[in-house]
Amino acid sequence: MNPLAVYIHIPFCTVKCGYCDFNAYAGMDGLKRDYTRALLREIELRHEEVAARNITSIVFGGGTPGEMPPGDLTAIIDALRSSATISPDAEIGIEANPGSTGPDDLRQLAEAGVNRVSFGAQSFDSEELRFLDRIHSPEAIDASVANARRAGIASVNIDLIYGLPGQGAAAWDRTLQRALALNTDHLSLYALTVEDGTLLGRRVREGSVIMPGPDTVADLYERATTTLGRSGFQQYELSNWARPGHKSRHNITYWSDGDYLGLGAGAHGYLNGERYENVAHPREYVRSLRGPASGPRAAVSSASVPERSTAIFDWVTLALRLSEGFEPAAFAARFGACLDDVIGPPLAECEAAGLLQRDRRGVRLTRAGRLMHGEVSVRVLAHLRAGTPAHED
Ligand code: SF4
Repeated sequence: MNPLAVYIHIPFCTVKCGYCDFNAYAGMDGLKRDYTRALLREIELRHEEVAARNITSIVFGGGTPGEMPPGDLTAIIDALRSSATISPDAEIGIEANPGSTGPDDLRQLAEAGVNRVSFGAQSFDSEELRFLDRIHSPEAIDASVANARRAGIASVNIDLIYGLPGQGAAAWDRTLQRALALNTDHLSLYALTVEDGTLLGRRVREGSVIMPGPDTVADLYERATTTLGRSGFQQYELSNWARPGHKSRHNITYWSDGDYLGLGAGAHGYLNGERYENVAHPREYVRSLRGPASGPRAAVSSASVPERSTAIFDWVTLALRLSEGFEPAAFAARFGACLDDVIGPPLAECEAAGLLQRDRRGVRLTRAGRLMHGEVSVRVLAHLRAGTPAHED
């Protein structure tokens, strides 16, 4: 049976953080019930597409899925169970904010099959948390991890953000040490990025917030790489570290060209070579799934099969996010062409610049290259855009 990952977007948050450009909304709690009904309807409408699939992972992301009534999330898992086969060892994960998913909720979710929880901890420094508009305290992170453990959830992750204005190495080290003391199974580290249309973006433009330079951010990333490596974590992706047996199978699907069904407002999906996106606004999403006569794409706002050069770019740049990189044979099997014939020149340039390593095991970024993934991607894209007509369809 064909494997399938399922992503379910829950767009509700208590507060909209100033740096966040996710499809997430505060003050819409009144819509939660209708939203769950719409998700159940979307699953029903997608039934035929997923019936022959083996679901290997289900992830509730957001937004703050941990603040949904656990019974609603359980109903969604049950609906998927009746539509398709869920693999007995499937990863079933949920994103939650520290302090906002209580011990009873976590227990209920664990009973429904949730075996992975990811807490948006972001920092253990109260001032940094305030700057990020996070409403939890450092102590709430400790308590939430302990509650998840007590509930019997097998994999516990925390997300951290680095590269905050004024954040020095010492402050970042303290956050890392507090995170390590929790003995979680997985850590995801993200650089704070300034997105257009966010409050942070406006404050940076106005000059009231000064972001650190790229060298400072790179230094913080390097420190984390060294610290986590010494603490028994394996870096398996640019932003992700795991203890043995705790890599996120769901996210590996994204980086490995696997199929995933995206459900919910603004969710993206990739099915049988086609990429699609659902309508973004939760009210519009709910509206699109009301009434009896709507097909499996009732909530889809756009869908397309990527051109070959786009598909190659996506495949290579996503695979290079993985520490193990990829094998040229896998590229040849996917695209029916030799890797060197298609993108040999930019790969050779990156290898000469020390960003890329090639050997019998395949192609992967070097440690220096991990800081320059964007640069490698730009070179690959420029080459593909310049055209390799012999290999285009
Ligand atoms: S809690 Fe997460 S998803 Fe919600 S607004 Fe903040 S950063 Fe965005």
